[in-house]
Amino acid sequence: MKHLPDFIQKLIDEFDKLPGIGPKTATRLVFDLLHRQNDIKEFANALNNAYQQISFCPECFNLTDDGLCSICANPSRDKNIVCIVAHNQDVEAIEKTAEFDGVYHLLNGLLSPLEGITPDKLKIKELTRRIEKNGIKEVILALDQSMEGEATAIYLSKLLKDHGVTITQLARGIPMGANIEYTDEVTLSSALKNRKKI
Ligand SMILES: [Zn+2]
Repeated sequence: MKHLPDFIQKLIDEFDKLPGIGPKTATRLVFDLLHRQNDIKEFANALNNAYQQISFCPECFNLTDDGLCSICANPSRDKNIVCIVAHNQDVEAIEKTAEFDGVYHLLNGLLSPLEGITPDKLKIKELTRRIEKNGIKEVILALDQSMEGEATAIYLSKLLKDHGVTITQLARGIPMGANIEYTDEVTLSSALKNRKKI
């Protein structure tokens, strides 16, 4: 049964694609938005600007507006230590600890064969290329304590073994099932300091 105008249904479908939002929430958000005459224009403009300006750092694949991201472009960051994370929000969480002065590499997800996320879907080839090209000394695996996070950590540690880098992993202060993004700064900071060689 379809009774909504197409443009509304289309909006609901787009919201529904976002993580953590089901069809019910998507519908509620869209109706709410459509009733805010002033905000909807701002929202549309912000989205359009984001679409126009978004680009990815060619080095670490962090979001940026142009060229290298501010972290890669910062001369005081140690380019020999690369922290491997799954998502942009993980970079934000680790930056908040002010404990890390290396650079990042964003995989853009975690391995999940059931969902069709195989190594070729992640920025793994780019990582090995970067390690070879830049003579990186240490990679820190800062991945979620989930099945996907573990699978990705195991895959990467095997893959990188022959690349002449020290591979470390965040200490186990992070509870099982926890996302890096939602781990508090103190725990994350100590997990980073006490990282273990693997
Ligand atoms: Zn970068």
